[in-house]
Amino acid sequence: MADEAFVTLATTESYCMGATVVARSLQRHGTTRSIVAMVTPNVSQKSRLDLESVFDEVIVVDMMDSEDRYHLALLERPELGITFTKIHCWTLTHYSKCVFLDADTLVLCNVDELFERDELTAAPDPGWPDCFNSGVFVFKPSLHTHARLLDHALQHGSFDGGDQGLLNSFFSSWPHTDIAKHLPFIYNLSASSIYTYLPAFQHFGHNAKIVHFLGAMKPWSSHSQWEAGHSHTMRRFVSLWWREYDTQQHTTPPAPGKEPPHD
Ligand code: UDP
Ligand code: MN
Repeated sequence: MADEAFVTLATTESYCMGATVVARSLQRHGTTRSIVAMVTPNVSQKSRLDLESVFDEVIVVDMMDSEDRYHLALLERPELGITFTKIHCWTLTHYSKCVFLDADTLVLCNVDELFERDELTAAPDPGWPDCFNSGVFVFKPSLHTHARLLDHALQHGSFDGGDQGLLNSFFSSWPHTDIAKHLPFIYNLSASSIYTYLPAFQHFGHNAKIVHFLGAMKPWSSHSQWEAGHSHTMRRFVSLWWREYDTQQHTTPPAPGKEPPHD
């Protein structure tokens, strides 16, 4: 299935760490699809070369920022304006269908069946389930859709200042039309749900397919933050993430001629 791909995005060195884990975890579970990283021009050459050793393609895209300080402040995530950059995934028209995965996700088993779904398929957001969460979604690259999304962003902005508000108002029929476009929650299991509905997590959590470290704390945040007040399960997912990250560091020798420059 050379014309289908998983896609992620990294605009900073930390999110490059996350992107690496996305790629490694997809490969560990034997995906047959291509794995693509979008990066912005500010990402260092060393990080880009590191990504090239695990991704099939690393594509440089323009940085796009909503600059919507007001809504981002409501969200308490001033850094998320930059997630407008995600919209560029619609320009990857050499693929007929793609699955976008946030760089803060960890794939726990083969999820290639996602390609049987159509645009726009996603799982509910735990904070407002009539919105889909934009950390995992199926889409069809199209320059036409890309242009319409940019136009929508210019006309209406985003109600949360990030990509999720924009995408939900663009694909506004999602909550009440085709149920086949609703992914089971186990394809985008946000870490916070472990606390907000623990019995459900205990009952269904063993079926989790993709964990999403949604929120300000990421697996690469300092260890001491995770030690304080987090459940055993959450810490287990974080250590699984680190195992995947460290495996990558130790088992992928630099390809010949691909030694990262010292900078
Ligand atoms: N992202 C990025 N740089 C940033 C912020 C976000 O590359 O400074 C990308 C990255 O792929 C990330 C996605 O945008 O996974 C969405 O942001 P985040 O996952 O932090 O949002 P959350 O899922 O916590 O709402
Ligand atoms: Mn995320």
